[in-house]
Amino acid sequence: MFDPSDIRKDFPVLKEYVYLDSAATTQTPRPVVDAMCDYFYNYAANHGRGAHRLARETTNHYEDAREAVAEFLGGDYEHTIFTRNTTESINMVALGLDWEAGDHVVTTHVEHHSNLLPWLRLKEKGVEVTVVTPDPDGTINPNDVDSAITEQTKLVAITHVSNVFGSVSDVEEITSIAHRNGCMSLVDAAQSVGHMSFDLNKIDCDFMAVPGHKGMLGPQGTGVLYLKDTDSIKPTYLGGGTVYAVTEDGYKLEDAPGCFEAGTPNIPGVIGLGRGVEYVKALGVEDIQQHEEGLAMDAARRLSEIDKVEVYGPMKRAAVVPFNVIGLNPHDVAMILDETKKICVRSGHHCAIPSIKLLKVEGTVRASFGAYNLPEEVDLLVDTVEQIATTLT
Ligand code: PMP
Repeated sequence: MFDPSDIRKDFPVLKEYVYLDSAATTQTPRPVVDAMCDYFYNYAANHGRGAHRLARETTNHYEDAREAVAEFLGGDYEHTIFTRNTTESINMVALGLDWEAGDHVVTTHVEHHSNLLPWLRLKEKGVEVTVVTPDPDGTINPNDVDSAITEQTKLVAITHVSNVFGSVSDVEEITSIAHRNGCMSLVDAAQSVGHMSFDLNKIDCDFMAVPGHKGMLGPQGTGVLYLKDTDSIKPTYLGGGTVYAVTEDGYKLEDAPGCFEAGTPNIPGVIGLGRGVEYVKALGVEDIQQHEEGLAMDAARRLSEIDKVEVYGPMKRAAVVPFNVIGLNPHDVAMILDETKKICVRSGHHCAIPSIKLLKVEGTVRASFGAYNLPEEVDLLVDTVEQIATTLT
């Protein structure tokens, strides 16, 4: 049975700090760090590039990690491409699809800049972009996506969970609407993978962008691009590791996943990520979801009961709680939480300025939760915010 207090021994930093910033990046458990140390100390070499035993061992561990991540996501090995982060995964789709002037992309106002800027840049090629507005709590109504789709729409790009509101959008329904209209769909799963149980095959999106360094508990510098059809995009980068044959006149690309991973990849990171998904799997994503969402909903309810505190987003939410103390700058609130109680929360626009504008504020304080957080940490957050609200406003 999953017990958050039991796993905290694997996260030494939590002895000293109240870490409520897992939406930005999660803490890394010891077994993940150990797996990376094992690579560095015992068998480090390059991937897929040599016959000697260390190269073979490195390649085996790297590819085992791919198997583990593919299985965790509910997908296939060849379709699981390692990247640096969610942002790179999304950019690889934006750069890898064939665009023509007049093509159309539908995205939304609750996107992280990483799932907005790559589409806005396509305007330089004559691609049109429609940005759908959510309900006031940040949830996207699938009917609004349906209405935004035109004959020219090539792609619907949407986030699963908003990192600003904590709202969850029905990406399965939205993908089915996209497909019914003959377009593709991309799901930004930055705040959902590892935090929520879902079935990639049921969502059935054409592209899923996934961070390794959040809910899958891998290290920073890791991410995944899941491709339903490995021929749907062209590789963004070419070079070592991507080709079968080369002459001065041309080259023949390897099959996926190799053709999408040019150059020396983040080998220790990927090996750590492979261990991360095993760790998360052993805890159980359903239990993690229940635990994190329980903490988030408790925190949201209690914070909203404090005079002069405003909480945003839906009541039923993912593990993200945005709020403000009326009259105080969110960065000041975050600094005080840190200085007085070592509570680490994010503050500002969270790389999602259009979402923040919808709230008609300059920014928010954001508490976000991981599998390792405890109810006592919610108590401390609520009590400290209450003190700030009563003494400083
Ligand atoms: N999309 C969303 C919804 C996010 O929350 C984030 C990270 N905060 C990103 C994309 C970017 O993720 P990464 O740092 O892995 O590129």
